[in-house]
Amino acid sequence: MIEHQSIKTSVAIIGAGIAGLSCATQLNALGFQVQLYEKSRGVSGRMSTRNTDEWSADHGAQYFTARDPVFIQELNKWMDADVAAIWNPRIKVYRANQWHEHSSSEKRYVGIPAMNSPGRYLAKSLPIQFNQTIDRIAYENGKWLLHSQETGDIEQQFDWLVVAMPAPQAQILAEPIDKSIEEIANHVDMQGCWTVMARFTGKPNAPFDAAFVNDEIISWISRNNSKPNRTGPETWTIHANPQWSQESIELEKDEASKLILDCAKKLGFDCDEANIAIHRWRYASGYINPILGFKLREDLNLGFCGDWLNGGRVEGAWLSGFKLANEISIKQPHLINKG
Ligand SMILES: Cc1cc2nc3c(=O)[nH]c(=O)nc-3n(C[C@H](O)[C@H](O)[C@H](O)COP(=O)(O)OP(=O)(O)OC[C@H]3O[C@@H](n4cnc5c(N)ncnc54)[C@H](O)[C@@H]3O)c2cc1C
Repeated sequence: MIEHQSIKTSVAIIGAGIAGLSCATQLNALGFQVQLYEKSRGVSGRMSTRNTDEWSADHGAQYFTARDPVFIQELNKWMDADVAAIWNPRIKVYRANQWHEHSSSEKRYVGIPAMNSPGRYLAKSLPIQFNQTIDRIAYENGKWLLHSQETGDIEQQFDWLVVAMPAPQAQILAEPIDKSIEEIANHVDMQGCWTVMARFTGKPNAPFDAAFVNDEIISWISRNNSKPNRTGPETWTIHANPQWSQESIELEKDEASKLILDCAKKLGFDCDEANIAIHRWRYASGYINPILGFKLREDLNLGFCGDWLNGGRVEGAWLSGFKLANEISIKQPHLINKG
């Protein structure tokens, strides 16, 4: 008698940001065997929180919006699981050298108790290997082979590969195999972001919880403690604007910090008494126009997802991963029957 064995189609996903996590979750639900590889120690990528022993601050994405019905459904799951909530900050806008009131009916959401909480929630049901920087990939005899900077050749071989990282990094990794990635990645003007985190002993006297700033090197200031479920010392996050950040990306940290804090002081937000930390995001924002959603090379069993393919931002990234998973499932029935 011939014994029939069902083997799941395997997919390696490089990058455990919200796009990679979303793709992995959906592929898992569709019956694929997934394995994520992440170069850092934790999940969530740019939807992130800086944690120290004394304080924490969201230093990447500050909030997210939800407009697509499919993403709204996902958000509802996150809210039911207490990992996301609505944020209602008092917002001001700085324009033409003056502060103005800001009114908008846009709903803003944040992870609770930290921006990386939705990512951590998704990660609970997924196999992820951390501290694995995938630096080489090869497609041989219908199988994907991966090489890690930290541990060398990865033993498992995969039927499919999903690359879920910012455009410049995706291009470097995949270009030797997929020349077409260069063409589209070159159309993404990915810009950096200098981010200052200021920890105060008291509460600074600012008439807002969050501020959009125009025509200055700063573009955003926000009070972490105004977000739901934040405890601990008073911390504020200041983002420099994308254009200035990109032009100044090679500055020394101290120099960038001084310029940003001088600008904050000019706007009336004095951080002289605060403890300061600074982070340089080399690839913060940018996306391809017109929007592609995701990219699939059916002939190579290779997919790309991420914010840069779907309008930028958290919602776009999540949807990109979700849609790519569905497309892979259409192209490839999820069970290979081996007799
Ligand atoms: C400063 C800043 C402010 C922002 N503000 C907002 C905002 O207010 N609202 C909003 O909606 N969005 C905002 N964004 C954008 C939002 O964070 C992103 O759109 C979203 O998080 C992107 O998710 P992603 O999964 O596509 O990419 P990422 O989050 O970048 O995930 C990619 C993952 O791949 C990993 N990786 C990279 N290379 C390798 C490799 N070789 N091997 C293994 N792993 C690798 C990375 O470590 C990372 O975890 C902001 C981003 C920044 C940086």
